[in-house]
Amino acid sequence: MTMDVLNLIGGRWVEGEGEEFADTNPARPSEVVARGRFASAREVARAITAARDAAPGWAATPHHARAEILLRAAALVDAAAEEWGAELAREEGKTLPEAVAEVRGSARVLRYYASEADRDSGEVFASPRPGESVLVVRKPIGVAGLITPFNFPIAIPAWKIGPALTYGNTVVWKPSSLVPLLAYRLAWALAEAGLPDGVLNLVYGEAEAGSAIVDHPGVDAVSFTGSTAVGRAVIARCGELGKPVQTEMGGKNASVVLADADLDHAAEQVCLGAFRSTGQKCTATSRLVVATQVADELLERVADRAARLVVGDPLAPEVEMGPLVSSAARDRVTAGVRQAVGAGAKPLAGAEPLEREGWFVPPTVLDLPGTGVDFWRTELFGPVVGAVRASSTEEALGLADLSEHGLSAAIFTRDLGTALAAIDRLEVGVLHVNSESAGTFPYVPFGGAKQSGFGPKEQGRAAREFYTRTVTVYLGAPA
Ligand code: NAP
Repeated sequence: MTMDVLNLIGGRWVEGEGEEFADTNPARPSEVVARGRFASAREVARAITAARDAAPGWAATPHHARAEILLRAAALVDAAAEEWGAELAREEGKTLPEAVAEVRGSARVLRYYASEADRDSGEVFASPRPGESVLVVRKPIGVAGLITPFNFPIAIPAWKIGPALTYGNTVVWKPSSLVPLLAYRLAWALAEAGLPDGVLNLVYGEAEAGSAIVDHPGVDAVSFTGSTAVGRAVIARCGELGKPVQTEMGGKNASVVLADADLDHAAEQVCLGAFRSTGQKCTATSRLVVATQVADELLERVADRAARLVVGDPLAPEVEMGPLVSSAARDRVTAGVRQAVGAGAKPLAGAEPLEREGWFVPPTVLDLPGTGVDFWRTELFGPVVGAVRASSTEEALGLADLSEHGLSAAIFTRDLGTALAAIDRLEVGVLHVNSESAGTFPYVPFGGAKQSGFGPKEQGRAAREFYTRTVTVYLGAPA
């Protein structure tokens, strides 16, 4: 079934005056999952004006009343999780259980941000002056421009929209043009839950619409998640404009397996990190650093699991890995693997393109000739992991840190001292000890170091640092 999706501008669902688009199923590209029209430049500007007009009223709405709307939206999202999960799998390509879990996770994020109404909304300090207190009051930033990627079509938008709304901001949101349907679903749930007109605006479009949001003087702050190249351009433009900006960007995440690790467990977790969501997670494992003593044994287990993974239509119950999101993604991953093999990498599993309908590639494990290959540096964003060997713990940690990215890492060891050393040694925003490099809880900070993240972190209370600004009030007693 093909869904017609609409833009949401100033509380009205509108078709859009821009180009027509069709959202296709990456497992069966002839199947159109959703279709609609992009918003025109005029409509993007209208959405921003609507958000500006709605901002004072929403900021003045009691936090608990804002929270009620988030809770109602969360209930609608939860109730639709199975249906929307199937749609997510059809438009993005992750397996049905992962897609349903993502939808449910989004409801959880909305509930978390609703619960912020019950927590402190500032701080009080003592004053050396008699009769005075110092209050640190938090206020909304105003209109938040949100730009989201394709790979978590509902969860990442919820990470941004939840905190933006709970702290009293209004929103103009441009989702990835690859996943319009889940964007429509989330916006519908929030509107249906009772958001006043103009508080959340959804505009479909590509890079141009994203740039228009970043550039517009009516947008007070920009939160972006996507590739490092686009993220850096967004940071640069916001710098020129003096606009607060938060970017979560690409990764090239390493898993380190040391000689004392439980190898079965490590192999299983490395495969989950590398191949779940077809490797299309910013926190996916794409580099593997293995202690030389156990390297052959570990790689054999990883390659064996990779070769046995069932690849196919993400809606089929037996399928463990779906397709990549687009033909461009399939071509990029295939070319990256070919380039690595040409540079001396030895394929231990996968590598050969799959000749079938859809944007499928096989789970691939490469034994790398060293860290000099492009593969080590470039995020492929697909189900490919490349391994190197290390002869000491120090060397292993050094290799894991040898990247311009610093999103997440994993280390597998039974030694507490080594785990503690990894916390100091690895410049990452997220570190997993004895679990896969991907995975995050909504109540703790999430985001990367180095070229993987810029500005305040997302999720948990960390999000408050971006979506509010403080006013320090010296509150003296009347004379
Ligand atoms: P992308 O190509 O950078 O696109 C991200 C968003 O930016 C999309 O909505 C895109 O629109 C829009 N965009 C493109 N050019 C723009 C411009 N010049 N100005 C403003 N907006 C622009 O990323 P993606 O392919 O969707 O997502 C995959 C990337 O995101 C990977 O690098 C992954 O590591 C990263 N990611 C990071 C995190 C994290 O939390 N660190 C989480 C998830 C994903 P269109 O695509 O519609 O043109």
